[in-house]
Amino acid sequence: RDAKRQKRSLVVFDSEFHQELQRRLDIEQKLKAALHEGLLSLYLQPKYHLPDGQLSGFEVLLRWHDDQLGWISPGEFIPIAESSALGESLDRYVLSRALDYLATGPWPDIPELYVAVNITAEHFAQPQFADFIDAELAKRDLPGQRLHLEITEGVVMKRVPGVADNLKRLRERGLQVAIDDFGSGYSSLSYLKNLMVDELKIDKQFVDAIHTAQGITVMDSIIRIGRAFGLRITAEGIETPEQWHQLRMLGCDVGQGFLMQRPVPIDQAATVPSPFQPPYS
Ligand code: C2E
Ligand code: MG
Ligand code: MG
Ligand code: MG
Repeated sequence: RDAKRQKRSLVVFDSEFHQELQRRLDIEQKLKAALHEGLLSLYLQPKYHLPDGQLSGFEVLLRWHDDQLGWISPGEFIPIAESSALGESLDRYVLSRALDYLATGPWPDIPELYVAVNITAEHFAQPQFADFIDAELAKRDLPGQRLHLEITEGVVMKRVPGVADNLKRLRERGLQVAIDDFGSGYSSLSYLKNLMVDELKIDKQFVDAIHTAQGITVMDSIIRIGRAFGLRITAEGIETPEQWHQLRMLGCDVGQGFLMQRPVPIDQAATVPSPFQPPYS
């Protein structure tokens, strides 16, 4: 009887596994076509200065709707892109469209506003990456200050030689680099010392926790560590006025989240609230 049951569960497992694999392959294939045909949409989510609520810049977030599969979240398709050698074309697509937008608008009337683009891990380590960025900026006559890049801890932790070279070159051009989802990976704090980045973007899980005394202590410590290394501190995923006020009191520099604004289609960037005024709580 046991053997029978075991056999049945194996069959179930096998078909689930098969379905997952099939979806992955579907996504990979459709993503390749969608990139080629320019079917992915760019959305922007504003980043605000916490001390005064002024707009600081925008992060670019991809959105993808497929006729058969429906909406597919970047949380699902970005890892597939990264593991199937589509990461580089995806980054190139997002970067060139984001820079086109920067160069032509409609853009809120703030000259130093920037766009922050998420970059896939492998692409950032390639020796040609900085050249590509240089060329894209030059093509549109844009200064490096208008572009920020967000990379994850894993990219800088791996100590691949290309990463350090790219960081150096890009920052010489005035670009700013943020470590995204800080605290969510397997990072050791020692790497911050040697790292040439400008911003720590603290992962949402730490923002979620600041309604407790322990959560506040942890957030306070992360902010102090970032400060000690001269980094700008950003918090992602702010959803309540209490979180905004608390982060502001702890000395966090920049905030982003659904409280202020959900990501909007790129042509609606000029309509986001600025300055943002949090309701009192
Ligand atoms: P991320 O870069 O950490 O982006 C933040 C994610 O949190 C976004 O999800 C954003 O919509 C969401 N978010 C922002 N504020 C809030 C909030 O207050 N509450 C909650 N619950 N969520 C909030 P999204 O757009 O689904 O993107 C997921 C991840 O996919 C991103 O995480 C990023 O790593 C990746 N990604 C998105 N677009 C791109 C892209 O163009 N290129 C690359 N390489 N990665 C991208
Ligand atoms: Mg990001
Ligand atoms: Mg993040
Ligand atoms: Mg995150």
